[in-house]
Amino acid sequence: MAVEIIDVVCPNCEKDIEVPMNEFIDVAENPEYKRQIIEGDFFLNRCNNCGDNVLVEYPLMYMDPDKKLNIYMAPAHENDLLDQLNSLDVPEAALDTESHFRLTSNGVSLMEKLLIFERNRDDRILELYKFIIWEDVKEHWQDLEPGDLLFMFDDEEDYFVIWNSDNGNDEKLTIPIDEELYSELEENYLEALSIPPGKYAEVNQEWISERFER
Ligand SMILES: [Zn+2]
Repeated sequence: MAVEIIDVVCPNCEKDIEVPMNEFIDVAENPEYKRQIIEGDFFLNRCNNCGDNVLVEYPLMYMDPDKKLNIYMAPAHENDLLDQLNSLDVPEAALDTESHFRLTSNGVSLMEKLLIFERNRDDRILELYKFIIWEDVKEHWQDLEPGDLLFMFDDEEDYFVIWNSDNGNDEKLTIPIDEELYSELEENYLEALSIPPGKYAEVNQEWISERFER
């Protein structure tokens, strides 16, 4: 598929930067894209004139056939985008009940989704987990916004990181995931959080709070 090029003005030197828009990504064909999204490089474009890296996010469809994962990332999208995505009638026979369809609105939440599915976690359960610990977390970090709590992992464990917690001293605040609580939530709530087969959902804190009263 031909890749469209858009011109973006460099905020630093005001020269044009040519940005290739990879609007359809299949990571079975291009596994390097998955790594670039996770590392935060995918949407960075180097200015040939001044050398600055400029973040340019554009709508893209991310597909990972091995994980049966489809994510549409649409920055600052309209409220009715989900309705549009879900208005297509898919014949029942063509529905794969194990496929996941998600909508996200920025590169960071796309990255988080990839990390979650990389660890074979369920994003609905993780959003519920965040929802439950939110009041406690807010007591310690009052300026936190929903969305500042992100799933991450390293060689040792899975945890949430408080994304805005750099505090100028390079210290990220992390909250380890309690496996017992995770399993309990999965066991008790996964069914209540089901998404109709073939339908997209924007699974985030708003999605959870529409389903649970605090
Ligand atoms: Zn520049």
